[in-house]
Formats: sequence, C-alpha cells, structure tokens
Amino acid sequence: MEPGTLVYDPHTRKVGEYQDRTGPYVMLRPVGGGREWQADPARIREATLDERLSAGVRALNDRSREGLSADPTRPPSPVPGCAGCEELALRRDRARAAFDASAVTDANVLLRQHQRDEHGGESAGRRIFRYVPYTIVQDASAQPEYEAYCVSGEEEDCGASSGPCQAPGEVEEWQRRHTQETRHLRYRRSFADYAVLERQG
Ligand SMILES: [Zn+2]
Ligand SMILES: [Zn+2]
Repeated sequence: MEPGTLVYDPHTRKVGEYQDRTGPYVMLRPVGGGREWQADPARIREATLDERLSAGVRALNDRSREGLSADPTRPPSPVPGCAGCEELALRRDRARAAFDASAVTDANVLLRQHQRDEHGGESAGRRIFRYVPYTIVQDASAQPEYEAYCVSGEEEDCGASSGPCQAPGEVEEWQRRHTQETRHLRYRRSFADYAVLERQG
C-alpha cells in the first residue's frame, strides 16, 4: 500500500492516511493531521469515495473551527476525495512547478470558488463545508440480472446468450446445456443490478 492512501479502520471506525508498517501494525494518521494510531493490517481496507469525502470534509471543518483556514490569504486546501478540488490543486501544483505566480493565483481563486459552490460557504470567517451524506443501496424494486454470453469461436464469438436470468443458477444451467450441444467452453458473464442513493438524516 502506498503511503498517503486513505484507508478505513473498522476498529476505530475512522479513515486515516496510511503511513507505514511498524512491526505487526500499520500506522495511520488522521486526515488533516493529528496523532497517528496503530491498526491491524489484516482489517484495514481502502476507504470508499463516500468515506474519503466525509473524512476530508470533517478535517476541513475541524481546521476551520481551529481558525486555521479562516485566513483568506491562506491558499485553500483540496478536500480529499473530491475530483474537482484535486483537479484544481493539480493545476496549482503545475503552475508552482513552472514558477507561474499568476497561474497559481488563478488556481487558488478557482479552488475557493469551487469550494464555496460545492462544499458550502464561508460565514463570519468560519468555513463550514456542508456535505450531504448519501447511502447507496440496491434497489429492491428491480430484480438483479445475471447473463452469460458465449465467447467461444475461432474468428468471432459464437454470440449465444442465456438472456437475462433472475438467478446465477439459471445461467449456469444454460451454460451446461450450451456446452453439451456445442462443446463451447468460454463465456462472458455479467451481473447487473439497480442502485439508488438515499439521503441520510
Ligand atoms: Zn471539491
Ligand atoms: Zn457458443
């Protein structure tokens, strides 16, 4: 795992930046800085986009509560996990590398603007980033679909398909039957389901 990767530790139920290994543990650092903690390498996993976003927003809120980012001359920092922030931060890095001061300023202006629009506003010198949490759940009103497609054949795929099935067993049954009939052995299988985002709270 690369240092700096954001991971989720189920033991503390926190997202941290992976630092490195020390003996049987891995060291994680809170997003936005702070005291490192030890975690079990077998239990941590890469943080989801949702977790990265909320950890980043939380870190920014903590920082603004401490008054550190209330200073308008301080360059804005990207919210970890936000593609918009990352793109603008990258543009700023490139401008810095090219010693292009006015391009750095432009990137900062755009980043501030983006953060005002996307992550809430600035009020009374304190920035609170409103982040609306959503949970992604499978849509129970639509059946998941399983399908197999025969890709056997020399020049081109055979192309026979099981059609959408309601269960993986049906697909396997179709594959066995098709193989019995044709001796075809290779299939592409797909699974599709519907997901909905539900607003929390
Ligand atoms: Zn952003
Ligand atoms: Zn076939």
